[in-house]
Amino acid sequence: MRRKLVVANRKMNGNIPGNQAFLDGLIAGTRDHQNADYVVCLPHPYLYQAQNVLRGTPIAWGGQNMSRYDSGPYTGSVSPGMLVEFGCQYVIIGHSERRSRGHETDHSAGERFEAAAKAGLKPIFCVGDTLAEYEEGRTDEVTFRQLTAIIEQFGVKELAQGILAYEPIWAIGTGKAASPEHAQGILGFLRGHIAELDAGIAKNLRILYGGSVNAKNSAALFSMPDIDGGLVGTASLDTNEFVAICQTASRARPS
Ligand code: PEP
Repeated sequence: MRRKLVVANRKMNGNIPGNQAFLDGLIAGTRDHQNADYVVCLPHPYLYQAQNVLRGTPIAWGGQNMSRYDSGPYTGSVSPGMLVEFGCQYVIIGHSERRSRGHETDHSAGERFEAAAKAGLKPIFCVGDTLAEYEEGRTDEVTFRQLTAIIEQFGVKELAQGILAYEPIWAIGTGKAASPEHAQGILGFLRGHIAELDAGIAKNLRILYGGSVNAKNSAALFSMPDIDGGLVGTASLDTNEFVAICQTASRARPS
């Protein structure tokens, strides 16, 4: 059984009092809704705060990116070990906002996935198509290529160490989520491809949908057999909205 998972990607938002209110609200709002897992990915300076507030609760926290190196002359970067030191269990890898600005390639995203897993973190590996690729009917080809970066470098079994997230770039921050049927089609395609290589890995791998998930559309999305939860950006900036999504995930049937 794959439990639903909801991940907040708070991006470069928040401040200490605002984070406190959000985390307190999330703890209270999910206390009686424990049939799903919840993760909050915050900007690095706030991980210490997350550790202090969330320690001892069922809510996990994580980073939004990391270096593949353990230490060295990488100004502005954060190592996997540093995230672990601040209690992170998760880290987002290969988000389109990093890929599109040239900070990340398929290959380097794959390397970071492995580095995160090696450090004991669960990488949340993002794949997704641009609007042009979607309109050209190339979604399968693009997401398959992005996923292959892990499989070719480290083998299909490496996928068991993390989470996959399909995030169409045309749906991120636009308010226009993919339809549940479209998202299901892509997630089903990716899971089917993984199953051809290793049925056990495919069966247990949690695959999320991300892109304008909100309190209204989450129930339909989470009812799809291959959608194991959501990666949530904008809606995670509103505590009530995010709590409502978490509660929906807790009510949804695990696949
Ligand atoms: C994201 O950027 O990971 C994301 C899902 O954003 P939004 O929910 O705002 O589309």
